[in-house]
Amino acid sequence: AVNKEGSVGERENCFGAEKVEELEDGDEDEGNRKKLRVWCRRHDYLWESGQIRSNSGEKALVLLPDGTVVTVPTQDLLPANPHILDEVDDLAQLSYLNEPSVLHNLQYRYTKDNIYSKAGPVLLAINPFKSVPIYGDDIVTAYRKNLLDSPHVYATADAAYKAMIADEVNQSIIISGESGAGKTETAKIAMQYLAARGGGGDVIESKVLQTSCILEAFGNAKTAMNNNSSRFSRVVQLAQGERSYHIFYQLCSGAPSGLRGRLRLRGASEYKYLNQSECLEIPNIDDAQKFHDLMEALDSIRICKEDQEYAFEMLAAVLWLGNISFVVTDNQKHIEVVSDEAVTNAAGLMGCFEQDLILTLSTRRVRAGKDEVTKSLTLEQAIATRDALASFIYVSLFDWLVEKINLSLSMGKDNMGCSVSILDMCGFESLKKNNFEQFCTNYANERLQQHLNQHLIKHEQEEYELDGIDWNKVEFEDNQECIDLFEKKPIGLMPILDELSNLPKATDLTFSAKLKHHLSNNRCFQGERGGTFRIRHHAGEASLLVVLYETEKFLEKNRDQVHSEIIELYASCTGRLPQSFAPLLKQSQNLDSASVQSEMSVCKKQSVATTFKGQLFKLIQHLESTKQHFICCIRPNNKQIPGAFEKDIALRQLRCCGILQVVRISKSGYPMQMTHQEFTKRYVSLLGETKDSQDPLSLSIAILQKFGILPEMYQVGYTKLYFRKGQIDVLEDVRKQGT
Ligand code: ADP
Ligand code: MG
Repeated sequence: AVNKEGSVGERENCFGAEKVEELEDGDEDEGNRKKLRVWCRRHDYLWESGQIRSNSGEKALVLLPDGTVVTVPTQDLLPANPHILDEVDDLAQLSYLNEPSVLHNLQYRYTKDNIYSKAGPVLLAINPFKSVPIYGDDIVTAYRKNLLDSPHVYATADAAYKAMIADEVNQSIIISGESGAGKTETAKIAMQYLAARGGGGDVIESKVLQTSCILEAFGNAKTAMNNNSSRFSRVVQLAQGERSYHIFYQLCSGAPSGLRGRLRLRGASEYKYLNQSECLEIPNIDDAQKFHDLMEALDSIRICKEDQEYAFEMLAAVLWLGNISFVVTDNQKHIEVVSDEAVTNAAGLMGCFEQDLILTLSTRRVRAGKDEVTKSLTLEQAIATRDALASFIYVSLFDWLVEKINLSLSMGKDNMGCSVSILDMCGFESLKKNNFEQFCTNYANERLQQHLNQHLIKHEQEEYELDGIDWNKVEFEDNQECIDLFEKKPIGLMPILDELSNLPKATDLTFSAKLKHHLSNNRCFQGERGGTFRIRHHAGEASLLVVLYETEKFLEKNRDQVHSEIIELYASCTGRLPQSFAPLLKQSQNLDSASVQSEMSVCKKQSVATTFKGQLFKLIQHLESTKQHFICCIRPNNKQIPGAFEKDIALRQLRCCGILQVVRISKSGYPMQMTHQEFTKRYVSLLGETKDSQDPLSLSIAILQKFGILPEMYQVGYTKLYFRKGQIDVLEDVRKQGT
């Protein structure tokens, strides 16, 4: 059996046999003495470098850097690369490709602020958690003019841009990595480069860049893993030490006095939605200044002052809604809304009657036989209704904003040209408490990871095999099993979730019990006590990722039912935003009297999980229609600090992306491919005279022979020619000279 990591004991790997004893190291200090550098396993993931002193076949005596000599079983040894390879740009250049060598290389580069490396076709970006002087106009120019070619986001963005122009094919840059790994920063850097290259003039460039400032304010928040994490929902509930969306704090500390007055705005500490997590500030971030920047950004993408003010009104309304409280009357049975400034201000800002707001928050219409009666809500229901209203307003506001931005960016553009899409993928999350949000995020991550694996590992090899070329297959364990766990009908996690979400009587506990009942023999699933379950994500080699989920609120969040009263109230508001949204809402939610159910009136719609899955599939479809470029971000430690490269943390992430396998394929694979026809069409002129009767393959071979491309540097498939890295360059140079 071939050991995946090419262990010394096996002495054979897919790069050909290599005898350990015959290797010589060119370390100058020790003169010409024969010695062999190895990695020896000390603990599970901890490898230490050493030199073999003697080898009995089963065991070896190894000299460690601290001078001690230890006995190590040979299966715990892996060959180390000579020092000369310590800093290679591309992991594919390593003579020995194994985990400790890869980690050593990346760490070595990282300590010298070389945060970017190539892993074959993938760009690795290791988060520096500090500013590194490798960005800016001069460096952009250097990459554009090909004066620099070391791995960089600029280089990747440049490749995408050039391919778009040359081939007239849409491109995409897919950025993956866990939360806090640097995806959003990387996306911004890529965007800066493309904006600078785009040549659409300063206007579009600054617009694109301003957009990220706006989306960040409204869509990002501080979490434990990332002070600026891209988030979906967190308006009403926060964990200790986390913050809500940046925009709230920016508004509270940065709004000028006129606006403050109109919004009846207070400090962030006075709003319950903001003060519950006891975290109002982020070190070194000036929220007031950020608000100033935001207003400039809104101006620059031509969102008029009036619209801006409407948006701020809605934000203030959300904050005041959070301060609305209830008192329990009638033997704990019913509640009343406390009539204070919170109600007055919220209603005033939304543009509805105070009384309507109070009614919506405290009662619900229920059908009794043929009639509708009004029922008072319990305290729990009232709080849920208030929070649902606040979230609903925020979501509407966010959607409105995205629409405005898209409109502004497409203004004056015919949209007929090609595009480069940048995907800032949602990172994998394993928090202390994982809920429905993490469930969806991690599912998406699993799917996108599969897409990456398929693109970079599976398809490539399948194509080699189908086209009949010689190929030693690189094994990898895909995550299909885990995806099946989520999707398989009728007993996958999502189908069961949807099924129970449709049963009014089902609870989170019946949900978890049903999962346990049906899925217990699945390798990726483990039912637990107390409504929790575990998923073994990225099964196989990388199964270090076991996440514990709590089913609390799973059904409710999956249903995401907005009571028709909430929509009606919102639609009755005179504010500009509610007005522009009301008709759309009614349409999309099928709001009609038939949706009034017996217990409570709610709007029927597709479940959140199913909607999410549909959107994900569309996204993947779009990616598949483009030429894809991959960037994999790595978080080198969990503390968000510079300078700390923790090997086990980095390794887990590298395994998840299948980086070693990708490099293996790239090392022994054929990155450049052309059909026989494409090849002949492009280079036939280099042959001079040809006979018409010659078929494309014969012509191709004639061209290759004429220019001395060695037979081991290419392979001939049934339909295509496959080239090793760099081989086509010779022909391209000649071709360019000719034209
Ligand atoms: P993700 O989107 O993957 O969750 P972010 O892109 O928000 O992570 O990055 C988290 C933090 O890491 C950023 O706020 C920033 O402080 C730091 N960071 C990431 N990439 C870089 C970079 N290239 N240079 C400097 N700091 C970075
Ligand atoms: Mg992000």
